[in-house]
Amino acid sequence: MPNIAIQVNDLRKSYKNLEVLKGVNLSVEQGSIFALLGSNGAGKTTLIKILTTLLKQDGGTAIVNGFDVTSQPAHVRQSFSLTGQFAAVDEILTGRENLMMIAKLRHLKQPRQVSDELLTRFGLTEAANRRAATYSGGMRRRLDLAMSLVGTPPILFLDEPTTGLDPEARIEVWNVVKELADSGITVLLTTQYLDEAEQLADRIAILHEGTIIASGTLAELKQLFPPAQKEYVEKQPTLEEIFLAIIGKKEGK
Ligand code: ADP
Repeated sequence: MPNIAIQVNDLRKSYKNLEVLKGVNLSVEQGSIFALLGSNGAGKTTLIKILTTLLKQDGGTAIVNGFDVTSQPAHVRQSFSLTGQFAAVDEILTGRENLMMIAKLRHLKQPRQVSDELLTRFGLTEAANRRAATYSGGMRRRLDLAMSLVGTPPILFLDEPTTGLDPEARIEVWNVVKELADSGITVLLTTQYLDEAEQLADRIAILHEGTIIASGTLAELKQLFPPAQKEYVEKQPTLEEIFLAIIGKKEGK
């Protein structure tokens, strides 16, 4: 049996009269990449906030790295790093200084060594002494990811990791995320980009109108969809077609 890094059961959350999460269930295996897909306003950020102890749920349970978010929030907070859409990089500092700052804030014993290892791992050694303001979008996002790994948390939450990046930089970030998962880190990412989920994720869950309406591997999701049609060529459905079909089905029922 694989180890489970994140387990969510019947999670509920409302903002006043707006019921955003209506009983969400999901399970993320250790060392895997899990993509949470959903339209704007579906509740992805709300779910991430509950998992990262920034917000309390109204009902249900969430276990992160074996710890309950409600009764063991301090343990949960030591188990993850959260990288938001907007990079936390300080532009005035160099790449190395940004990393050293976090390492010192986290009271690591060898901030210089930790920083240099991360610079190497993320291909930023040559740029280490340049101010982050001179970095490309992809380099900045890589530095941001490196900063979130100072102190090596076992779980990484990525909220829309490639929003606003050009195609080349997106591929760079995808490669880094894949390497992280290969090294045993569990990644839960949210995205509006279906191709991102298609490229990266071991498992995909679609959050719609408060619940997970479909989840599985890409191959499993494809099976929910009518078989390939024979036109002039046989065509496999794209994740986008699956997504729209599932959402449409649900709304039309
Ligand atoms: P997503 O990340 O999928 O775009 P969110 O979790 O940010 O979705 O938001 C889900 C819904 O909850 C949206 O309709 C949003 O307007 C609403 N919402 C989010 N935060 C609050 C809040 N603090 N107070 C009231 N409503 C909120």
